[in-house]
Amino acid sequence: MDNQNDLKLFYDRLSELYRLGCIGALLGWDQQTYMPTQAAQARATQLEYIATTSHARATDTAFLKAVDELAANLESLSPDDLVNVREMKRELDRERKLPAEFVAELAETSALSFSVWAKARPENDWAAVKPYLEKLVELSRRRAEYVGYEENPYDALLDIYEPGAKTSTVKPLLLDLGERLREIIPAITDRFAGVEEPNGEYAPKAQYELDQKVSFDLGFSFDSGRLDTAPHPFMTSLGPRDFRITTRYEANNPLPSLYGVIHETGHALYELGLPVKWAGTPMGSAVSLGIHESQSRLWENLVGRSREFCEYLAPVIAEFFPGSELADPDALWLKVNRVTPSLVRVEADEVTYSQHVVIRMLLEERLLAGELKVADLPEAWNAMYEKYLGVSSTDYKDGVMQDMHWYDGAIGYFPTYALGNLYNSMMMETIQGAIPNLSSQIERGDFDPLLSWLRENVHVHGMRYKGPELIKKITGKELQAGPFVEYLKGKFLA
Ligand code: ZN
Repeated sequence: MDNQNDLKLFYDRLSELYRLGCIGALLGWDQQTYMPTQAAQARATQLEYIATTSHARATDTAFLKAVDELAANLESLSPDDLVNVREMKRELDRERKLPAEFVAELAETSALSFSVWAKARPENDWAAVKPYLEKLVELSRRRAEYVGYEENPYDALLDIYEPGAKTSTVKPLLLDLGERLREIIPAITDRFAGVEEPNGEYAPKAQYELDQKVSFDLGFSFDSGRLDTAPHPFMTSLGPRDFRITTRYEANNPLPSLYGVIHETGHALYELGLPVKWAGTPMGSAVSLGIHESQSRLWENLVGRSREFCEYLAPVIAEFFPGSELADPDALWLKVNRVTPSLVRVEADEVTYSQHVVIRMLLEERLLAGELKVADLPEAWNAMYEKYLGVSSTDYKDGVMQDMHWYDGAIGYFPTYALGNLYNSMMMETIQGAIPNLSSQIERGDFDPLLSWLRENVHVHGMRYKGPELIKKITGKELQAGPFVEYLKGKFLA
């Protein structure tokens, strides 16, 4: 066998797939930001062409044969090549076990279901989406059977978003988290009684300038990225030095936009720190969605909602909005931290957020196992909300229909959000030891030492380690819920 030829084919193909992926991402970014409405039809066919071409190039026989041959001789590869081959093999194996008709059926059902959901949600029309969700649960179960699993069909879905994750570790972790949060939520909520959301006049143009200034201070480079407006905030990467962040503005409150930008900046800083020479390969890619969220939430919450950050931010807000109630650090701290159990995940605060995720994980695992029927989901949903957050919805749109994930076929995605919180609070314990004057640096708006630490300890590794391995390497400990809960107690109840 010829290792060198196989490696050449392998990397040439990855490079091609990466370029196709970036072109698709650019088309998608434009679709969400500047594309005129009349272009929608043609754009859909362009995106479909990129997707089909990528799929064909990723699954052609010569390429798969090269990957298999390299994977059969992993020990002969350099450590970096080994990571790239190991991860591509894992991903391709998962995909090629799915029959082509199944892939088509899943894609078609997901797309149809998503468009039905988008129309039915504002109308609170559960009956319209229910048959699609039933179908998608069934397809997800079949997907798990095709891909295979050792213990639980849910493992096969978790693995798509969080490589190596298993129900037997993730479920006890999140159940433990849910119970510990139930104990502290009432006392923390009491502390914020009477604190209202900001309500003033905040011109979107000045908000945009404020958001840019903060993102830049955190380390985002506007030579390598842009900030634009879109209906749903996101970050997308169009190349190794091209990161696009989007946000949306509320004219009476600048915080949702600003904290959305801080979150997306966290995602961009992670991608910016991945090794450029490995762009488009697993060594140049994020570990998992959970680790990606650990970075965005570290900047948004552990840094952005800290007392020290409010000391930095209040005078910056005063520059753009003189006389704002948010220009005082103490008032700002209360506003950005306001904890109150609510029905809607995307509006949840730092403390209650994870409960929304715990609820979804428990429900989707039972749906997949056939222990819960979609018809009984709204009732089970409300019982869980009563238990974990003490609230329950009277309608579907802010209940089981609130998130697009399930209706888009993404069962198994939710746990990554809560894992992000566990990962980053564990990292932060180590960081505080490594950077003893972190607090005063943040207060001064000096974020370089923190960003450098993250680059050296997290970003630079690409996919070399799985999430829990990376955490063990950084902290010496197994992934656990304790540090996150202790962090919340220290912040809110000390
Ligand atoms: Zn995120």
